[in-house]
Amino acid sequence: MPSFADTIIKIEDSPEPTLPPASPDATIVADNSPNDTSSTQSPTTVIIDPKDPEGFLRRCSGYNKKTRVRCGQPIGKNSAAKNQHPTFLPTCTNHRDQQSFAGWCQLVENGERCGRLFRWTPPYLELCDQHQGHPDTPCYFLKLPLELRREIFSYLLPTEPVGSSSASVHKTPLPTLPSRFINPPRAINQQGHMQASEPPRLFPVPLVDLLLVSHQVHAEIKDLLFSTAHFVIDIRKDGTFMCGRRLLEPRRADGSSHFSTDNAGVAAQRFISNFDFRLVKNYVVDISVENGEMGRAGHRFPTADDGWDEEVEIYDIRDYVSVAVTGILGQSQNLCKLNVRLGLSNFRWSEPELLENTKCLVGPFERLRNVRQPRFSGVYEAAQNAMNYMVPTYPFGSAPPPHGSPDTIPHCSVPQLSTRKILLGHGDAGFDSYKEQWERWLSQKSAVSLSSKPPIRAMFTEFKQFYTSLSAVVPDVTARVGKHAFLHRARVAREKEDVEGFRHLRNELIEYWYAYLDREEEKKNALNSKLSRMLDTDIYPSHESENTSRRNSSGPHPESPMLDVDKMVAEGIPVRIPHYKVSKVYLLEMLPR
Ligand SMILES: [Zn+2]
Ligand SMILES: [Zn+2]
Repeated sequence: MPSFADTIIKIEDSPEPTLPPASPDATIVADNSPNDTSSTQSPTTVIIDPKDPEGFLRRCSGYNKKTRVRCGQPIGKNSAAKNQHPTFLPTCTNHRDQQSFAGWCQLVENGERCGRLFRWTPPYLELCDQHQGHPDTPCYFLKLPLELRREIFSYLLPTEPVGSSSASVHKTPLPTLPSRFINPPRAINQQGHMQASEPPRLFPVPLVDLLLVSHQVHAEIKDLLFSTAHFVIDIRKDGTFMCGRRLLEPRRADGSSHFSTDNAGVAAQRFISNFDFRLVKNYVVDISVENGEMGRAGHRFPTADDGWDEEVEIYDIRDYVSVAVTGILGQSQNLCKLNVRLGLSNFRWSEPELLENTKCLVGPFERLRNVRQPRFSGVYEAAQNAMNYMVPTYPFGSAPPPHGSPDTIPHCSVPQLSTRKILLGHGDAGFDSYKEQWERWLSQKSAVSLSSKPPIRAMFTEFKQFYTSLSAVVPDVTARVGKHAFLHRARVAREKEDVEGFRHLRNELIEYWYAYLDREEEKKNALNSKLSRMLDTDIYPSHESENTSRRNSSGPHPESPMLDVDKMVAEGIPVRIPHYKVSKVYLLEMLPR
């Protein structure tokens, strides 16, 4: 009985062509040869004949090493009778070293098994030449229990977290991940090692190839991938990255992009609309925050007006975290493992400051519910963050497409979070108590995956709309920068749900609008009085007839009845239009308010 593994792969090619097949004529001749007459009398030969057209049970299956022709030496009657179902095809004593598997064709047609004896090369299916590739061939692989199939698939799927650090300079070992990830690479990965010094691919087999096998395999692979793989979300000042795509990017205050819409942006959009966020069960979220002042020390940037501000940076990152929580994690229908790690680089904070800022950065997770195993791993001293790279990689380990093909999508690569030095972790009383609360909140059972938004978020949205419109009219409001900026202070109040503080800030902003209205009112009054004086100086009687309609001006003019003004204008003759006495009230109404 062949093992399961032996029957998985079905290949159309017969293994035989390397050797010259025994001539059918020779077989027939041999079968009818007088030498065989004795055996034809035995009852076994009569039954076996159609099942053994090549006479493997009666004649040696070995090959002459020089001529590559089948030996065909009759096998002793006794040895053939001894074993009607041998593992190997019988040979003469000379060819005992040439062992070929004996296969009996397993194809069942009209309820009857073919059963023909043939030279079988496992792991190819046990089917004779005639029945290889037959459409009724059973798919043994799909007959396996699902558990076994999933075990097999697991060798074709990543054993490491699926992240965005595809550039080789960004790869570092991940010492703090669960033991599953630091197991030695499986056999299938070792193939990659053999090829070159190039690191093994994340996906041992191109995922697309697997998904295209059949609908059933597609569904099973997808289910397995999403329930076992850990997807890494990297949250950094230059964006939020997942699977090599920048899903979120920093925007200017007006919402426009810093980056031109390129292939990468299109790829991210395509990823967002096609990736099934609902099915993902395991996430690793790596947040990294960098001290911009320290980072630029070498460049001597005047930080005050350059605008880098610690508090603003922390809240910027917190905003990204918040979006990742609602937009990505909150979409998962069955979030099982969530591992959050925070990397800080070059901050010199006291311990209370460190804990306070940590709480601020990971606070948005507190809205998540129903996470089965939430884990806040700790706060690490991260290396100075290099900028992300755009590297040409290909989706899920597939082969590089031909050069210049539209499939060449540049992917983003970001450095992995380095976790060598722990700043805050297990053993610190403040951290442990917060971590315990944090994990308890996240694992709470709830009907929805996210606790409801506080109303202050809607207040903030409207505040921002008003601010944006106002800043176009009253640029003074943008004079407050850094942590004093209106929008920053408003979001701080929002994140702390500080309603009093928010209202106070809102009133400050409204003051700008009222002050503007007052100034405009003064301008309007000043201009109106000048206008009145100007019109009052005209004490001449009005021409009633010309006041009725503007169309009159195209008619003969009273002062120069012979001339047509339109005609003169068309001919380029300078024309002086006489003054009309217009009602003052009418003009005032025309002024913009
Ligand atoms: Zn032989
Ligand atoms: Zn057959």
